[in-house]
Amino acid sequence: MRVLVINAGSSSLKYQLLDTKTREVFAKGNCERIGIDGAFIGHSENDGEKQKLEVALPDHKTAIKHVFEILDQAGFDQSKIEGIGHRVVQGGWYFPESKVVTDETLGWVREVAPLAPLHNYAEADVIEICRDMFPSIGNVIVADSAFHYNIPEKAWRYALPRDVVDKLHIRKYGAHGTSHRYIWRTTNEFLNGDVHKLVSCHLGSGASLSAIEDGHEHDTTMGLTPLDGLIMGTRCGTIDPATVPYLVREGGYTIDEVDDMMNKQSGILALSGLSSDTRDVEEHAEQGDENCKMALEMFSYRCGQLIAEMAQSMHGFDTMAFSAGIGENSATTRQSIANELDWLGVKLDPAKNAIRSDDPRVISADDSKVKVLVVPTNEELMIALDVEELLSK
Ligand code: AMP
Repeated sequence: MRVLVINAGSSSLKYQLLDTKTREVFAKGNCERIGIDGAFIGHSENDGEKQKLEVALPDHKTAIKHVFEILDQAGFDQSKIEGIGHRVVQGGWYFPESKVVTDETLGWVREVAPLAPLHNYAEADVIEICRDMFPSIGNVIVADSAFHYNIPEKAWRYALPRDVVDKLHIRKYGAHGTSHRYIWRTTNEFLNGDVHKLVSCHLGSGASLSAIEDGHEHDTTMGLTPLDGLIMGTRCGTIDPATVPYLVREGGYTIDEVDDMMNKQSGILALSGLSSDTRDVEEHAEQGDENCKMALEMFSYRCGQLIAEMAQSMHGFDTMAFSAGIGENSATTRQSIANELDWLGVKLDPAKNAIRSDDPRVISADDSKVKVLVVPTNEELMIALDVEELLSK
């Protein structure tokens, strides 16, 4: 099936047109700075060179019109698009699995939007626009939180007063679920079913772990929001929650300033004092920058701690998979995370770890107690496969 996958943010809209059978990507791109001066679309076809198209993008509706025009010029008019898959960040309690768009399901995306206001409102608007502009094409909602919804209560419940958590729907929702689901599926296929307890490590500018036993998740590191868990590019991850009232009372920060600080000015960026991008930080650490060295050391230390926590939730693990920007590309970070876990019998083969490839591969030593892989993630393909499954029914 030929599926258009859309990932809308508050000022951006990524798209990818792909075939679920051949897995061929015909076109992809990103509409950037929607509603802001200097908007443009970066577009490429068949993995070719990226073209930059400078166009006015006052709103998401205009962006979608442009995307369909570009696809039309590339030979894919509306009639050749068989389904549209929409990534939704927060599905709340309504999306334990992907669902076809109806008035009801679209309403649910808006109802849970206070849990992810920067994403869900824009995503709901884009779903509505696609449905209204192209009524002959089926639309499907794929929530990033879906995979985590059925983890055990002891993992998702917060030890806060029941009336408060019930009223405000506070619980662990997690994120990156579509990626973790893809990583499980690909690892399982690649190892011919010889995987039972997997710790999936999605380590990109956002980073999270997932403990998956035979396809079912036990626990994950992100929480009510994607701020929890690991240290990330600009996010602090888990810290003592009392830091928040302390910053407000003693530091004089407003709650919005604290929110901004923890989400956008913390993590690797704050620790290194240089950049949120691990490539820059690794380069400066090699040149002897102490803050950069500490940023990387802390990142690996926290990964090690939380991987052990994920393994604990399954009472063991036989496989670990690294994915996303850092997990797929940084051999040094993979090695230092493995070093943290040597007491659990994790051991990499340095030659295998050094190989660069876009394919899944094993990088552990033959005598490692845990098989370690690199598995490039592909959330767009996972979304498209859900679209195919639901629209073929
Ligand atoms: P993602 O969010 O999955 O796109 O990952 C983006 C992040 O991956 C960047 O901000 C970098 O920190 C990291 N990254 C990408 N390539 C490399 C590399 N070759 N070495 C180290 N880190 C990398």
